[in-house]
Amino acid sequence: MSTKTKLYEGKAKVLYPTEKPEILLTVYKDDATAFNAQKKGTIKGKGEVNCTVAAALFKSLEKSGIPTHFIDCPSSNQMLVKAVKIIPLEVVVRNIAAGSLSRQTGLKEGAVLDNPLVEYYLKDDDLGDPLLTRDRIFLLNVVTVEQLDILKEMALKINQHLQEFFNRCQITLVDFKLEFGLDQQQSIILADEISPDTCRLWDQNETDEQARVMDKDRFRKDLGAVESAYSQVQSRVLATIDQAN
Ligand code: UDP
Repeated sequence: MSTKTKLYEGKAKVLYPTEKPEILLTVYKDDATAFNAQKKGTIKGKGEVNCTVAAALFKSLEKSGIPTHFIDCPSSNQMLVKAVKIIPLEVVVRNIAAGSLSRQTGLKEGAVLDNPLVEYYLKDDDLGDPLLTRDRIFLLNVVTVEQLDILKEMALKINQHLQEFFNRCQITLVDFKLEFGLDQQQSIILADEISPDTCRLWDQNETDEQARVMDKDRFRKDLGAVESAYSQVQSRVLATIDQAN
């Protein structure tokens, strides 16, 4: 694949064309970044973990009626996906206060929210992915009113499904980020990835605030044992998928 021209290289994945214009190949990398790429490093085996976890979750979501860009994994860190036009929004769903929500509102980290919170950030690294208001979304013409309604409905449905799934893994889904795209028919489908890079996942078997962290916060906050936490997520997700089949 390395001989092919890259379509795009992001922080965690590289995108290649395939023989079919409607299908792209995503190669998941071990490279890790945080704080808008100010912190850089490598998490050994991350590409494989994230690709495998994302594939398992996409398949599970498809079964529950959520359309995704997932097609197949030709190898453990490669995913064939439907080509979509990415909607430039990062849709964040939160069940428990953490990260920027705690920093910006003073809500105590770990506080359980009465209802899931859906937020929209502009996907723009140069601007630092700012939090948007509903009116700013329409001001920028990012999506229509109808599309925003669909995004919120899909995000909440995905949250419901993933919360139940991760509970079966004895993992608490604190929050996560989603990206959506428009397919050839202009329908909204789930794109990008769902992985320990894009979710906050807390081990239900650990009460210690640092020991329970199974996601990219281990890298962001230099908590150590990043690789083993990622591989633990992978093992539990795959074991839970196996039980379901
Ligand atoms: N997130 C992400 N990519 C981003 C920003 C956030 O995947 O560019 C995820 C992050 O891992 C977490 C959730 O979205 O699961 C909410 O992140 P938050 O806004 O709390 O940002 P942070 O505190 O990490 O800056």
